[in-house]
Amino acid sequence: MGKPTGFLEYLREVPADRAPLERVRDWNEFHLHMEEKKLRNQGARCMDCGVPFCHTGKLIGGMASGCPINNLIPEFNDLVFRGLWREALERLHKTNNFPEFTGRVCPAPCEGSCVLGINNPPVTIKNIEYSIIEKGWEEGWVVPNAPATRTGKKVAVVGSGPAGLSAAAQLNAAGHAVTVFERADRPGGLLMYGIPNMKLDKKAVVLRRIQLLEQEGVKFVCNANIGVTHSVADLRRDFDAIVLCTGATLGRDLKAPGREAAGIHLAMEFLTASTKAVLDQGDGCASPINAKDKDVVVIGGGDTGTDCVGTSLRQGCRSVTQIEIMAKPPLERAANNPWPEWPKTLKIDYGQEEAAARYGADPRVYLTTVKKFNADATGRVESLVTVEVKWERNAQGAFVPVEQPGTEKTRPAQLVLLAMGFLGPEQAPIQALGLETDARSNIKAEHNVHATSVPGVFAAGDCRRGQSLVVWAINEGRAAARECDRYLMGATSLP
Ligand SMILES: Cc1cc2nc3c(=O)[nH]c(=O)nc-3n(C[C@H](O)[C@H](O)[C@H](O)COP(=O)(O)OP(=O)(O)OC[C@H]3O[C@@H](n4cnc5c(N)ncnc54)[C@H](O)[C@@H]3O)c2cc1C
Ligand code: SF4
Repeated sequence: MGKPTGFLEYLREVPADRAPLERVRDWNEFHLHMEEKKLRNQGARCMDCGVPFCHTGKLIGGMASGCPINNLIPEFNDLVFRGLWREALERLHKTNNFPEFTGRVCPAPCEGSCVLGINNPPVTIKNIEYSIIEKGWEEGWVVPNAPATRTGKKVAVVGSGPAGLSAAAQLNAAGHAVTVFERADRPGGLLMYGIPNMKLDKKAVVLRRIQLLEQEGVKFVCNANIGVTHSVADLRRDFDAIVLCTGATLGRDLKAPGREAAGIHLAMEFLTASTKAVLDQGDGCASPINAKDKDVVVIGGGDTGTDCVGTSLRQGCRSVTQIEIMAKPPLERAANNPWPEWPKTLKIDYGQEEAAARYGADPRVYLTTVKKFNADATGRVESLVTVEVKWERNAQGAFVPVEQPGTEKTRPAQLVLLAMGFLGPEQAPIQALGLETDARSNIKAEHNVHATSVPGVFAAGDCRRGQSLVVWAINEGRAAARECDRYLMGATSLP
């Protein structure tokens, strides 16, 4: 609960990020630490509100309201206010296996439903979470914790994103022998190849946790594409249960005329190549898909698009534009989006801040879509044509974008990045295992039960719920581990 009068005494304060024009010159993280006294004051702003909503993790209107892993937020705020950091870390690890990931990349639905946020800026929950776990690592409090006894049961986890990692951590803690299979050359899923290094450092943060899991006994096998390079039958034979955490990485394409031109890529091709260059060559500018001296157009105004903007700037693009088909969100909550719902307001993320610092304006263009791509004589994209849209109801009553005649515009573009969302999981392991899928091609399994249509096979994370958030993937991995443990042992003590 912090200090009953803290919210009256202290204003909300988050640590300043590194200056935009300085940080676009490298690939290092841009968040800075905050001094301890200030952090304790921020913890003090948690105000003993009586019925906290910050930790509820309910879906309202399809969006998370409160923390999806039910972090014990008022408790750790109070412990930080009192300077009891080790106890705060213990509370945090009760619900979250990887606070160093969420403390960096979570959009913090907890803060959207903080009671103080009704008429004041909310408590800086995410930054407090980040500070607790980083202090834990610095002080040497985060150490391998292998189980005292082993059950003799073997579990295969397929996919090493946050869902796979949390499932593996929990199943290993329950004493099972866990092997994580990953098709990429490095473990981590979108934590490794997806979210860029400047948001989440791969070596210092992602691999640090994976090494700890290895020390606890989890085995990782990379370059193992289950259902393609490794047979599902072998997995069924060698393991007592399987937890699928394969993500939803099939990108949505844009079937506009001229799409076949060279220089048009799915966002994930671009982001993966850049991070691989950061890891292998120490510089994302060495990536084979490169924005240097190019006019870059990113199609999609979401988080993946923002990561493309930030990466293009670091590679030295000439200009960057981000095309968004939806309308610009309001600055304040709309009347139909009240607290404690997730606030659908305009957010200026790191990529837009950096583009504005370099070029003087936010790169986003709203209510606009792409009509066609133009290629030069060599077949490389050189420009694209956009058109403005209006959202109107069609004959069936659904809102659809309607092109506005006379608003066509040709924009220079030698690199186009498609960041328009994801269609669902890749089907190879799903088909090989004969699993039922839902209408959106995700694996069919109930949330918090996670059993698929095939006994002994469980599903968690984006491959079950569709492309979502790291915090939901951790929630699902933990729940799937609990149900898998129950299946193997007849009972479970996993949370
Ligand atoms: C560019 C980008 C930026 C994002 N930024 C954020 C953010 O800032 N904050 C946030 O909360 N969320 C963010 N997300 C969403 C978040 O990363 C995902 O919701 C989350 O990683 C899902 O976790 P997961 O474990 O279910 O799947 P993933 O992280 O996708 O991991 C799945 C893993 O399974 C592997 N795999 C797939 N099939 C096989 C197979 N047959 N055999 C072996 N391995 C296989 C894949 O290679 C992958 O490594 C972002 C997503 C993208 C694309
Ligand atoms: S995991 Fe996300 S929602 Fe939960 S406390 Fe941390 S920042 Fe908030």
